[in-house]
Amino acid sequence: MDITLEKDQSTLTASQVWRECLTVIKDNVTPMTYNTWFVPIKALALENNTIKIQLPNSYFYEWIDQRYKKLLHQSIMNSLGVDGKIEYIIREGIEPIEQPSEEVVALRLKQSEQKLNIPDQTFQTGLRPKYSFENFIKGSGNELAHAASLAVGNTPLGSSFNPLFIYGGVGLGKTHLLHAIGNQALKTNPLLRVHYCSTEEFTIKFLNALEKKKMDEFSAFYRGVDVLILDDVQFLIGKEQTQDLFFHTFNALYSQGKQVVLTSDKPPKDLRGLDERLISRFHQGLTADITPPDYETRLVILNKIAAEIGLQIQPEILDYIATHITSNIRELEGCLLRLLANVSLASRGIDLSLARKTVGEISTTRKHQISVDSITRIVCEYLKIDEHKVRDKTRKAEIVTARQLSMYLANEMTQNSLKNIGLYFGGRDHSTVIHACSTVRN
Ligand code: ADP
Ligand code: MG
Repeated sequence: MDITLEKDQSTLTASQVWRECLTVIKDNVTPMTYNTWFVPIKALALENNTIKIQLPNSYFYEWIDQRYKKLLHQSIMNSLGVDGKIEYIIREGIEPIEQPSEEVVALRLKQSEQKLNIPDQTFQTGLRPKYSFENFIKGSGNELAHAASLAVGNTPLGSSFNPLFIYGGVGLGKTHLLHAIGNQALKTNPLLRVHYCSTEEFTIKFLNALEKKKMDEFSAFYRGVDVLILDDVQFLIGKEQTQDLFFHTFNALYSQGKQVVLTSDKPPKDLRGLDERLISRFHQGLTADITPPDYETRLVILNKIAAEIGLQIQPEILDYIATHITSNIRELEGCLLRLLANVSLASRGIDLSLARKTVGEISTTRKHQISVDSITRIVCEYLKIDEHKVRDKTRKAEIVTARQLSMYLANEMTQNSLKNIGLYFGGRDHSTVIHACSTVRN
């Protein structure tokens, strides 16, 4: 009884302290950062002036440790005094490795007895069946990427495009193509071990395996894959250990003739801060870009999505949307979904004013997708400075100003870590970025 009471009390105090910390944190970060990275944290206990907080996974830990360690520490000291400490606890088991069921074990036994080939039912493909080549619209901007993807999907272990590297801006269908490749490869040969994962997921699993001393299991899994599909490899930047492991996995697969497919938001040569060895591996195969679709393709896509979600919509409204949303297919989709929601709320038909309002809503949510590249470009245009100079070593006052301003905006407006921002601006240290941010703020 006593013990329970004591525990309750400490939990209560921990959450009180944590609430205090949160008020400090809230004042120092953007609402989006606050909601994304701090709200999910749970205070577990308070012992010996140390608060134990639980993070959902190791990716969170890496992120917070890189960007907000100082802020967290300050907020803790604010509540607990100068010797206040913080202990991170990472919630276990993001994705438990499934134990094969009895049926599967029996099936495997039978398989080995009869020397039959039966697909491994427990293998986690990570594939989403809803993304296929059938529902991918081929059009201007994606022709090469589509053709190469189809070739890989149809001849997964014999394609001449290895690795296949697809790059392009957000919402242009890269992830869709990746799943389509995987699904098609399995259709071609159900016995293949096809695995899709995002780079963030790969990183989380890697850190988890490191922590739990299960690296052998982790490596064995990835080295046993026939078709490895890794999405958004730009997120390998700044993660040296993960890069290194991926490099060795890549080599192992490649030398056995296994297929690797990758995507990124920019071409390999522009992945500043990524290991040169990896970049030259990426260049070994085929690199295909995806660019925004033209007006006709946008209309075809809009019609397809409208039909899929059962939205009746007049041609002039589709024309309005296709004219105003030009650079992102996810936004076209998002616009129709919002229209669907608005129309059910307003219990009226879709007219041009509703479409206008909806398109307006889409453009106001867009600002979160700005890239470090575009920030730098705009800053340099404004200050009339050569863009590449901000990434050089030069300490000329006007260049330093442009660099610091770009760093500050990159930190405020993108999801990049301080470390990544430092890497982007000529391999500078994260403390340089912190300094730049406080200079600009002051
Ligand atoms: P990316 O990975 O490049 O950011 P996604 O693959 O997630 O983009 O695409 C965003 C959305 O747009 C998805 O729902 C996808 O199905 C749809 N989409 C993108 N390109 C096409 C296309 N060519 N045909 C049909 N749907 C598409
Ligand atoms: Mg994607």
